[in-house]
Amino acid sequence: MSRAVAVRELALLEQAYPQAVTALHYDSPFTLLIAVILSAQTTDARVNLTTPQLFAKYPTPQALGAARLEDVESIIKSCGFFRMKAKNIVAASRALAEQHGGEVPGDRELLEQLPGVGRKTASVVLSVAFGDAAFAVDTHVFRVAHRLGLTLGKTPREVEDDVVKLVPRGKVRFAHHWLILHGREICKAPTPLCGRCPVNEICPSVPIVARALRAAKAGSGPSRRGARAAAARRPGRSS
Ligand code: SF4
Repeated sequence: MSRAVAVRELALLEQAYPQAVTALHYDSPFTLLIAVILSAQTTDARVNLTTPQLFAKYPTPQALGAARLEDVESIIKSCGFFRMKAKNIVAASRALAEQHGGEVPGDRELLEQLPGVGRKTASVVLSVAFGDAAFAVDTHVFRVAHRLGLTLGKTPREVEDDVVKLVPRGKVRFAHHWLILHGREICKAPTPLCGRCPVNEICPSVPIVARALRAAKAGSGPSRRGARAAAARRPGRSS
């Protein structure tokens, strides 16, 4: 697949998802950072139901950093992995209070030193709160980028590097939202809704998905599970 087609695909997604904003509710870099940490392995909607109570009780890094773990755990319990997340958000808040004057640093290296903050979380905070040219790769972005043929990357970092090369620098901070919204609404796992997809005339996965679904329907090819795996197969992109 050519670079020109890859760029065209991204332009179509940009048109399809002009509201490229995070679904997480936040009102400061601090509340965004905590919401992003809580959002691992759960939905943004679930986090949005949880954070009002959390920030009503602990509105600042100083307050959350001094909280009792059991109290935080009981508030965030529905977000999953609550013990680990409670430990991370309390420790990260304490680090913000003690090492950064209660402010979230707009610097990747410093962000990634905070407990519970990896490259993906740092990228979301940098792009959303600070407007930096950062591109976060989560499970939706990873899957959609492969189906579109934007990358052959085996790791989130490889996918990030490949996609960023296709997007004008001024739009990099929005590109994550194009792919994540598309992954949630249309290019779903395990079965993408290619018939409703604005990119389906040029997406290299369309025949793969169609073949897999035909085989699953006929019951003569791979099992349903196998068909789904085939539907997710990754086409490549040549430069
Ligand atoms: S055409 Fe299908 S596989 Fe390709 S991006 Fe759209 S939904 Fe995903």
